[in-house]
Amino acid sequence: MNIILFGPPGCGKGTQAKFVEKRYGIVQLSTGDMLRGEIKKESNLGLKAKNLIDDGKLVPDEIIIDIISKRIDKDDCKNGVIFDGFPRTISQALALDKLLDKKKIILDKVIEIRVDEEILLSRIEKRANETVNKRSDDNSEILIKRLEIYKQDTKPLIPFYQKQGKLVTVDGMKKENEVFNEIELLLN
Ligand code: ADP
Repeated sequence: MNIILFGPPGCGKGTQAKFVEKRYGIVQLSTGDMLRGEIKKESNLGLKAKNLIDDGKLVPDEIIIDIISKRIDKDDCKNGVIFDGFPRTISQALALDKLLDKKKIILDKVIEIRVDEEILLSRIEKRANETVNKRSDDNSEILIKRLEIYKQDTKPLIPFYQKQGKLVTVDGMKKENEVFNEIELLLN
């Protein structure tokens, strides 16, 4: 099974991806985590990505598509994957369609985790005030910018996957385990 988990920053995607990974034995491919890994290693790619990420901007599509296409060839992906934080633009979604087609991989579902904007903004404030495990791009100004970029560049993926008949939506304002129950119902 291969799915996309989709939603704005602060919707709980990462948490749900971990639950899905455990329950279905498929692997979470978080482009955000991969990029943070590159930054930590101080690789060329990491150096290119760091300023963009810290500024709340998107990393160029070509870079993202390249890391995903390499990652998906690894052995642990053969049972299936959860794309988390990817695709984030229509051009990434088109490239993903092509890639999956070439590798004869079927995308089963795109799960949108929906959260109202006021709630996102309050979660964003909370995340920005946390001191443990804080990411360098987690301050409220940057998070609000990421939300704007989500609305502009990523939200158009909703009609894109609706047209493919793959989009399903869960209520991300419920408790974590309740959100996961909804996801399970959709995947079973
Ligand atoms: P969140 O889900 O909280 O928004 P991520 O960990 O998915 O955060 O991403 C953090 C940052 O990494 C993004 O703001 C962006 O700069 C970069 N990034 C991650 N995935 C992509 C992607 N698919 N395309 C472009 N940039 C990305």
